[in-house]
Formats: sequence, C-alpha cells, structure tokens
Amino acid sequence: MEAKVQKLESKWLQERGVEVWVKREDLLHPHISGNKWRKLKYNLQEAQRQGHHTLLTFGGAYSNHIAATAAAGQAYGLRTIGIIRGEEHLPLNPTLALATETGMALHYISREKYRLKDEPAFLAALQEQFGQVYLLPEGGTNLLAVKGCTEIVQDIDMAYDYICCAMGTGGTLAGIVAGLAGQQQVLGFPALKGGDFLKDEVQQLVQAYSGETYTNWQLITDYHFGGYAKVKPELLNFMEQFKQQYGIQLEPIYTGKMLFGLFDLIAKGYFEAGSRIVAVHTGGLQGNAGFTERLGLKV
Ligand SMILES: *Cc1c(COP(=O)(O)O)cnc(C)c1O
Repeated sequence: MEAKVQKLESKWLQERGVEVWVKREDLLHPHISGNKWRKLKYNLQEAQRQGHHTLLTFGGAYSNHIAATAAAGQAYGLRTIGIIRGEEHLPLNPTLALATETGMALHYISREKYRLKDEPAFLAALQEQFGQVYLLPEGGTNLLAVKGCTEIVQDIDMAYDYICCAMGTGGTLAGIVAGLAGQQQVLGFPALKGGDFLKDEVQQLVQAYSGETYTNWQLITDYHFGGYAKVKPELLNFMEQFKQQYGIQLEPIYTGKMLFGLFDLIAKGYFEAGSRIVAVHTGGLQGNAGFTERLGLKV
C-alpha cells in the first residue's frame, strides 16, 4: 500500500519561502486508518504465523487503535477482543459502535485495573480468561509496529529536509526515525502535556529496533493545547481554515495539533528559506464523530 504526498499550495506558504507536503496516510484504508494500519501490519502477519485466531488489545473509549484493530481483525479473519478503560455507556459511542460492527468483543475494566495493562501477572490472567490470544499493547506500539512505521518514510520518493509527525506513544515517530537512518530532520509533536518523557520512549524503541542512536530528531512539546484530547477554539478554527484552504480534514487530537504547531513554527521563522517539509497525516478521522457527539463541536 502506498500513500501519496500532497503539496499544500497557498500564498501564505509561498511568502514564507517554505514548501509543505502532507503524506496522506489517512487515505490508506477506510477503516484501518493511517499509522494504525502501519503499526498493525506486521503484527497481523506475526499473529497468523504463530497460529493465533484472536487479537486482544487495550484502549480508551475513543481509541483509533481499537477501531483499527477491530477492522483489521475482520479483514484478516482474526477474532478481536478490546479491553476498554472505564464503564460501558450505552448507546455505544461511534468508535465502539464501529468496533463492534466490525466484530470486536468489548470488555470493560475499571481505570484502576486498566493501569495494570502492561503487568505480566495481569496479562497472564487475561490469557487465562480468554485463551491463547495475540496481545497488542495500548496504541499498538511494539517493535513490529516500529517496523511497519519505517515504511511511512520508505514510500516517500521526493527530496525533503524535515518530516513532522504527531505523537501518542511515540511508536510511529520511532519508526520514522529508524526508517530514515539519520537522514533529514524529524520533528515529533506530542499530543499530551509533559510529552518530554517520550524522548526516552522513542530512543529505546529506535535502539531496540535498529541498534542505533540517531540524533536527527527532536520533540516540539508546546502544542498540546492543555493535554491529551483537550481542545481550544483556536485549534478548531485552524482545522477549519486548513480544510477550506487545502481540502484536507484533520482531527483535533493528533493531526490538528501537529499541523497547528508546524504552521506556528513556520510563522515564527523556524525553518530556513527553501525548506521542504513533509507532515504525516496519521489518519484518525473516525474519532471526529465522537468528538462532535461529546462536545457538540463541528469538526
Ligand atoms: C495513534 C495516533 C497517533 C500517535 O501514534 P503513536 O505511534 O502512538 O505515537 C498519531 N496520530 C493519530 C491520528 C493516531 O491515531
């Protein structure tokens, strides 16, 4: 699968002397969106290779990873179980409705229990309860996910100087860094507050995957808008203008914040004249329906 790069055309960008392309990972698949598809690809193959019939994973009630895993399981003929943080709310929100429509069995656990999701004893208990399952961590980040994300950069066949990507767990950025093997400059935009800890996460993932420590990447931590899944009117305005100007829909949790940040850096003269910048649209648009429903926001 390939995702094209689309050049953003505007007078504003021209005047600032930089060129911006969007890598349209959001167009990879209608339900297995963007980076979640990249992260699942080799895990699905591995699950099948190991002879598993079921994937089990974790997420919040609006998780793009939950929606993507359900759709991917269906496409690959694997059963899927989603361990969802918090209580069940009926009717199901659009994300969980989509997940069940694509065959995922949902199990709700308390927030306290959910915190144990990486503990070996807790995972062993889940294996006990559900039988032999292929476990995917929250957000889908593991070394096979990093491998899948190296392909984001492998299928960009143009020259550029910078690549920008939103961050949750940092798995996608780790794949980009590993895939570039020291080339270009990589900017990661954490979607959560206090995102500096992601530096170690990315470092460890890149090291574990490639055995290398690269220095051509950094985190831009100023564009979280108050925290994960927090929004402000200026963010929503930006997304609306972006859609009108460039015809590309964003979502407020990841891609909206990253592109807001990128455009703010451009406005502040962060990039030297003539810079060619690629921004990765990691998808996640399924989440917009839930956002609209919860906050009455039009995105
Ligand atoms: C999950 C997600 C991310 C974050 O990916 P990580 O690999 O966890 O850093 C970014 N953008 C979108 C749209 C996502 O759904």
